[in-house]
Order: sequence, then structure tokens, then C-alpha cells
Amino acid sequence: MKILVTGGAGFIGSHTVEACLKQGHEMIVIDDFNNYYSPQIKRHNIAPVLNQIELVEGDIRDPEIIANAFANTQIDTIIHLAARAGVRPSIDDPELYLSTNNSGTYHLLEAARKNKVKKFLFASSSSVYGVNEKVPFAESDLIASTISPYAATKLFGEQLCSNYAHVHNLRTVCLRFFTVYGPRQRPDLAISKFTRLISENQPIDRYGDGTTGRDYTYVDDIVQGIMAALDYEGPMFDIFNLGGSEPILLKDLIAAIETTLGKKATINELPEQPGDVPRTSADISKARELLGYNPQTPLSKGIPKFIEWYQKTPATGEPYPKPASVA
Ligand code: NAD
Repeated sequence: MKILVTGGAGFIGSHTVEACLKQGHEMIVIDDFNNYYSPQIKRHNIAPVLNQIELVEGDIRDPEIIANAFANTQIDTIIHLAARAGVRPSIDDPELYLSTNNSGTYHLLEAARKNKVKKFLFASSSSVYGVNEKVPFAESDLIASTISPYAATKLFGEQLCSNYAHVHNLRTVCLRFFTVYGPRQRPDLAISKFTRLISENQPIDRYGDGTTGRDYTYVDDIVQGIMAALDYEGPMFDIFNLGGSEPILLKDLIAAIETTLGKKATINELPEQPGDVPRTSADISKARELLGYNPQTPLSKGIPKFIEWYQKTPATGEPYPKPASVA
């Protein structure tokens, strides 16, 4: 298959591209290497596969950039991962989130329709559940209200996918990722940030009393779910939770990182942040049944694996270890 991955130089995107290449797919990647976090990290992420992919460097808000990816070729599937991610920054700059996540998704769906793409996978998020009282969160739950611009854009993206499936017969699958971690994790996310700060004997900011909970998902498991969705031939529009199914309290997460590092954290206790949901918890029974999704890495294994990877980071100022070949 020929697959276009947007955001393919990012954390989840670079793992997804590697998995697709291993299955023999032809790959086109669009990424704008923006500075939400160091573009150098993104270049490291994608470096080992650069000679195996076509890279279109540019912004998905620009239809001409998307047209470049489609020039003289037939793309079978789009895996749309490019987005402004992160809840708190979306409150500071909602316009950037709306333009990237909403307009960007619209331009890609339009290109998919015009170019007769067979399937469109959309990276949605557990944040669409907002302050869901019922746990675990299931795809059939009524989504009453999101509480951040980021979450609103993800819900909008799902709705637009539904429109294109209904009106234009484009098969769309929305995958609601529950906090993803593992090698190359975005440096703004908790496990990555805490590991770095505790390792460097710097204090960490803990928002709330530590009793907020998150369902963390190891990146290999997310990629397994994405790859399974490539073959999914169910309804023209569908939604799946991809979670780890093992929620953990923030204070217990910090303790697990401390234990693995063999270091105690100095904690700045701060008030809870607007936009942060109190808990996420995935019901993954639908994905298990219809995608064969089967997460393999509990936190007890995943945190040591992440920290082992992190500790290989050279002290040369390079953000990540020299990437190994995926071949
Ligand atoms: P990431 O920031 O590492 O990857 C996103 C990539 O998209 C980056 O390489 C970035 O440069 C690129 N990008 C952003 N805006 C772009 C634009 N306008 N044009 C072209 N490229 C652009 O983030 P990630 O954690 O890998 O997340 C990937 C996707 O999964 C996102 O859609 C995110 O919302 C979603 N998601 C992630 C998590 C998580 O825990 N990491 C959870 C739920 C959903």
C-alpha cells in the first residue's frame, strides 16, 4: 500500500512510519518540523528512515503542500497524526490549535476525497471524553462537553471524519489515544518531563494533590492498534479507544519513576490546571474484539523501558541517542 503519514517525524508518527516500512508499505511523510518542541528531536526521530520515505516538508494548513504529496501518485491510505498536541498550550493559543487541527484536518479530508483515497485514520484523543463521570470510558458514552480547545479540535476532527464517510463514502477510523509514552515521547509530557527533571536533581511541578489519574499506553501498543486499523473493514465511520487499560494516580506514577531512577523527587505542589481532566480510563473491549488490539506493555515494564532508553541519551547536548537503523 502507499500510505501518507502526517506528523510522521513526531513521537507516535516516527514509530508508525517504521512499523509501516517493516510491513513493506511505500511511505510519504508530511511534517513541518515546527518548534512546539525541538525540531532537532523530530529530525533525529526520522533520520534512520529518510532514505526509505518521501518527505514533504511543510504545513498541512497549506493545500499546496498536501497537493505535493499527491503529485503523480495514488495514495491508498492516510494516517493523520499531525496536530498541535497538548492541552495547556491550547488554552494559551486556541487559534493555532483551531487552524492546525481543524483546517489541517479539513484540507487532508478534502485531498482524500478528491484523490480517491480508500481509508483515512484520524488520531483522536481520550481528552474528547472531558469530565466523564462514568469509568472506564467507552466509545458509546455520550460526549457531553470537552474542557479545552485541544479536546474540542479532536472532537471536531472526529465529526468531520463522520461527515466525509457519510457524504463522500470515505472510510474513516478515529482512534482515541490514551496518554502515550515510550521512547521519543514528547518532552512536554509527564513521564518524559519527570524523568528528565528527577534525573537532573531538579524539582518537578505536580498539579493537584496527586490523585488525578491517567490511563497510560506504551507507544508500541498504540502502533499495534494503528496497524490493525489499516486492515479494518467495518462501518464507513468508526471510533476506537486505544488505551493501556491500567489507570494510575499521578502520585503513584511519580513514585514508580523515582523507584526506577533510584532517586527521590522534589515536588512543587501547584493547583490543578484548567483544561486538565481529573481522570482518563479506557474501555478497550471494542478495539480488542474488532481490531484484535492487545496491549502488551504494562507500566511496570514500560516505565523501566522508557527510562533505559532515556539514559542512553548522550550528554553532548543531543536530545536523543543516535538513532539505530530500523532495517
Ligand atoms: P508530536 O508533536 O510528537 O507529533 C506531531 C507531529 O506533527 C510533529 O512532528 C509536528 O511537527 C507535526 N505537525 C504539527 N503541526 C503540523 C502542521 N501544521 N503541518 C505539518 N506537520 C505538523 O505529537 P504526538 O504525541 O506524536 O501526537 C501525534 C498525534 O496523536 C497528535 O494528533 C496528537 O493530538 C495525538 N494524540 C497524542 C497523544 C499522546 O499522548 N502523545 C494522546 C492522544 C492523542
